[in-house]
Amino acid sequence: MEEQVTNVVQQAAVYNLTGEQEKKEILRHYRALLRAIRYKFKKGDKELVRRAFEIAADAHKTMRRKSGEPYIIHPIAVAMICVEEIGLGVRSTICALLHDTVEDTDISLEDVEREFGNEIARIVDGLTKISNAIGSNSSQQAENFKKILLTLTDDPRVILIKLADRLHNMRTLDSMKREKQLKISSETVWVYAPLAHRMGLYNIKTELEDLSMKYMEPETYKDIAKKLAETRRERTRYINEFIRPVKDKLVKGNFNFDIYGRPKSIHSIWNKMKKKGVTFEEVYDLFAIRVILDSPTEKEKEDCWKVYSIITDEYTPSPERLRDWLSNPKSNGYEALHTTVMGPQGRWVEVQIRTRRMNEIAEKGLAAHYKYKEGSADEDRFDKWFGQIREVLATQDTDTVDFLQDFKISFLAEEIYVYTPKGDVKMLPVGSTALDFAFSIHSAVGTKCIGAKVNHKLVPISHKLRSGDQVEIITSNKQKPSEDWLNIVVTAKAKNKIKDALKEVKRAIADEGKYILQRKLEGIGAAFHATNIDILVNHYKLNSFLDLFYNIAIKANDLKDLKEFNVLGDKLEPPKPQRPVEVPHVDAIPSYSKKDSELIIFGESSDKIMYTLARCCNPIPGDDVFGFVSTGKGLIIHRTTCPNSPSLMANYSHRVVKTKWAKNKEISFLTGLKIIGMDDVGVVNKITTIISGDLKINISALTIESKEGLFEGTIKVFVHDKEELEELVARLKQLKGIHSVDRFDAE
Ligand code: MN
Repeated sequence: MEEQVTNVVQQAAVYNLTGEQEKKEILRHYRALLRAIRYKFKKGDKELVRRAFEIAADAHKTMRRKSGEPYIIHPIAVAMICVEEIGLGVRSTICALLHDTVEDTDISLEDVEREFGNEIARIVDGLTKISNAIGSNSSQQAENFKKILLTLTDDPRVILIKLADRLHNMRTLDSMKREKQLKISSETVWVYAPLAHRMGLYNIKTELEDLSMKYMEPETYKDIAKKLAETRRERTRYINEFIRPVKDKLVKGNFNFDIYGRPKSIHSIWNKMKKKGVTFEEVYDLFAIRVILDSPTEKEKEDCWKVYSIITDEYTPSPERLRDWLSNPKSNGYEALHTTVMGPQGRWVEVQIRTRRMNEIAEKGLAAHYKYKEGSADEDRFDKWFGQIREVLATQDTDTVDFLQDFKISFLAEEIYVYTPKGDVKMLPVGSTALDFAFSIHSAVGTKCIGAKVNHKLVPISHKLRSGDQVEIITSNKQKPSEDWLNIVVTAKAKNKIKDALKEVKRAIADEGKYILQRKLEGIGAAFHATNIDILVNHYKLNSFLDLFYNIAIKANDLKDLKEFNVLGDKLEPPKPQRPVEVPHVDAIPSYSKKDSELIIFGESSDKIMYTLARCCNPIPGDDVFGFVSTGKGLIIHRTTCPNSPSLMANYSHRVVKTKWAKNKEISFLTGLKIIGMDDVGVVNKITTIISGDLKINISALTIESKEGLFEGTIKVFVHDKEELEELVARLKQLKGIHSVDRFDAE
């Protein structure tokens, strides 16, 4: 599906007017594509690509993108990304050209198969299925993602072309409406960027993340981009100073190489700022140095280590920051040697060493090579990964949102390598515990696990493993899985197996409850049949017969109110429902300094609605916000920058509504500021003078802690809107000795 299709009739007139120029423009794009793919052509390929182009161009001829350009430009651009940025071949180019035809036009899958054969039809079918999954209005993204994965494991080219499609849509997102931009962007960071990462497409992953951030957090994005540009000159000077002595030695060592400094992505800088709570100026690794070697395959490893040795002769390495992905490539195929060394002026600098072949894989992903290099270790790794995904998909019956969460952790997260006592390597996601390891060996080992020996030391099952650990699992036949095991494991496989085991246990206990219920029902003259049990399940607000039987067995439901039921014949009649108690949601309502709120939030329909402000991000007027329709609490207003927002938008986009602040000076909102500065007599006085004296803002709480000449203060104030808050922050920053003033969201 293509999000950007627009009204055909409305545009038709414009199309006719500029028809000739547009035709030329389309051909120009197509010829550029041909030039890029030409050297891969075998006999007959050129004609096939042209045929695909003609079919697609004809099928889309009355369609336009939101930007107004002819639709066919999009599939050509997607094909171009496949060729140039992912390194895919002729078959994929044809599929990319056709990727939206079956979905959006009269072309059928049979047409595609007749023209291009079974292989291409299968891939186009996969792409169409993904579109259907994502386009469905109920927008259960998690369910859809599951479908994507099922298709993905069929042929990785499907997902690669889909990533190219998404990348082009993100690059051209400007012409979409704001809500659509937010929805597509959050879906992109949530699902597609991690997928790109997992497929080893680092450049595409980075671009997807940066583009998403550009729409989701436009101000921060612009701010960091500006600061990066402002500091470029200084950075270049530093990089040159760093590189010079290394370069000399590499030349002397007869290496063929490129060495350069590469700035990190805006998104990753932003992540670092958030994670470490530091400012842009304090992020030390704004760039990495990269050494790319021309090295014959058999000498690759040796050469990389030689370069490592040369660099660490010049600069002292940090022992904890050595990453050897030469001996143990990541499962997405990434190979390199990373180290962090102390550069000039006492600054830590990350250095990445790899060969040209490794660099190619790092940039275009291993999947481009997949299946074309038969029997290689690369192929093996991918097959293993796909195999694991298929296994989890096959056993999944849980909540799909949970599933997505589990999946992300299990398959898209960074990995650690651990060893069995015999020295076999196992790859597990970061954060895995001894219990995860046990389940990765076998579910029978997992369910009996009572502890482990990690590097010969005894540890509990919850022990978090680290790369390089050697793990021996200790089992006992007396062991039984329990509910809290679910909090100990992170892998989807372990979670599923534990849930299965718990269900078994529950079933055995429930049998007892079933017997008790049968006797009780017969005791009051009611039948023990599905209708009556169903009435009780509803009465106790449970989900299933099993839950009811189980609760009765463990005496969580004592059946005392069974007396109040009427029995008609053998059928139960539930007692009149009591009036539900109104539960005031006091904790979710923000503190107002004045009486009732007049704040109007406009949904699509401009109606006045009940709302509360999310406690996770405490929005104030002026913030970019969206509304989330909750069950029970009405509309909850979140900031678009809220840490929960990507997950909410991606998984429940049907519950997300557009919201806007109405201008209002009557109400004020509680928000927090964190101030760090030099400790100084009277600093508290100066701060409070500005807040309550000059700006007449009410302070709700103020704490100052000083330590070794520094102070850290947290202030909670009532402000009317973002502008007022920004003014306050600016004024505080002007105070002498103040280092930073930051808003924080916690209550
Ligand atoms: Mn498309």
